Amino acid sequence: MNIHEYQAKELLAKYGIGIPAGYPALTVEEAVEGAKKLPGPLYVVKAQIHAGGRGKGKFKELGADAKGGVRLAKSLDDVKADATEMLGNTLVTVQTGDAGKQVNRLYVTDGVDIAKEYYLSLLVDRASGRVAMVVSTEGGMDIEAVAHDTPEKITTITIDPAQGFMPHHGRAVAFALKLSGDLNKQAQKLAKQLYTAFMELDCAMLEINPLVETEDGNLLVLDTKMSFDSNALYRHKDVEAMRDETEEDPSEVEASEYDLAYIKLDGNIGCMVNGAGLAMATMDIIKLNGAFPANFLDVGGGATTEKVTAAFKIILKDPAVEGILVNIFGGIMKCDVIANGIVQAAKDVNLSVPLVVRLEGTNVEQGKDILNNSGLPIVSADDLGDAAKKIVAEVKKAA
Ligand code: GDP
Ligand code: MG
Repeated sequence: MNIHEYQAKELLAKYGIGIPAGYPALTVEEAVEGAKKLPGPLYVVKAQIHAGGRGKGKFKELGADAKGGVRLAKSLDDVKADATEMLGNTLVTVQTGDAGKQVNRLYVTDGVDIAKEYYLSLLVDRASGRVAMVVSTEGGMDIEAVAHDTPEKITTITIDPAQGFMPHHGRAVAFALKLSGDLNKQAQKLAKQLYTAFMELDCAMLEINPLVETEDGNLLVLDTKMSFDSNALYRHKDVEAMRDETEEDPSEVEASEYDLAYIKLDGNIGCMVNGAGLAMATMDIIKLNGAFPANFLDVGGGATTEKVTAAFKIILKDPAVEGILVNIFGGIMKCDVIANGIVQAAKDVNLSVPLVVRLEGTNVEQGKDILNNSGLPIVSADDLGDAAKKIVAEVKKAA
């Protein structure tokens, strides 16, 4: 799960980490009120969307010369004008895709006089089984470009979670940032605070870009992105409450309400499967037959008719879906329950695309009977290979 910049900064501030003062705003008035509480005369008005590259982003509704999603404002009037221009409009950045994201929230912060920008991030490094701290003197810009063009400017320091953060890790971070004197000490302290926050909050990723050295010699977190391990969210109710569903794929949000594991993909064949392994195998075999899955969907072991119906509707909402393949192995789940769900859903939504169903396992005969007697044009298949072949052929036929 991702959160907004202002929320991440709120969390980091609790660890004693330096951030510029700021206030979130949902309206132009709130943005101006927030700015009034800041010392001025320089303010920054920042679009809050779950994507980076906002500064260089462009608003769809505004001209090519209009400013981006991170704006320096020199007066309260400027804050007002910027907030008015940004709220409700669609910001397109390198990370949003062409559709962009509508800006519904702003963050008005105290403008900082920047001497230098750095990069620092923490992530779970699966290869080493450790937490990796990635550090670079080249902050503020696209870190992927730095990694590609000048990889020697990026240093990775790994920390064994069993051992925890040691003073030498802090020194390595400060050294990689080429800092000396008091700034060096600040960097060591910051690295430790960030590691503590990362571990305690069960982060998947914590990126600071840029980390800035101010003109008056302080290190501040100017921008941050934070994402969390969804499986650990139950331990962090305060973080869970920060979820902004308007930033997520609506189908994925709906699926999570029904406890369905659903991920939208780019293909045209909708899949409804039970078990993650079977779902993967089903996706593979669709590809083997020359087509592409429109989604990953695991209805889980103990699905009810309601859950199956919901899953079916979610698949069909995707306009790219030209056919559906249901592949269920009834172990804990019974095939007749699945069949009832399919029939119910197909009737509810007025099924308009071909549907191939492969059922196997407990109560398979009852399940097949329910499908055959439903009066719906359902093609039944005997095994995984047969099912994939049939759905690909049906979609071609319908096209
Ligand atoms: P991003 O474009 O989404 O990564 O948003 P950032 O928060 O990183 O802002 C982009 C850039 O705007 C930063 O790299 C800075 O150069 C600039 N910027 C952001 N806040 C300030 C500020 O307080 N003062 C100054 N001078 N520049 C800022
Ligand atoms: Mg940034």
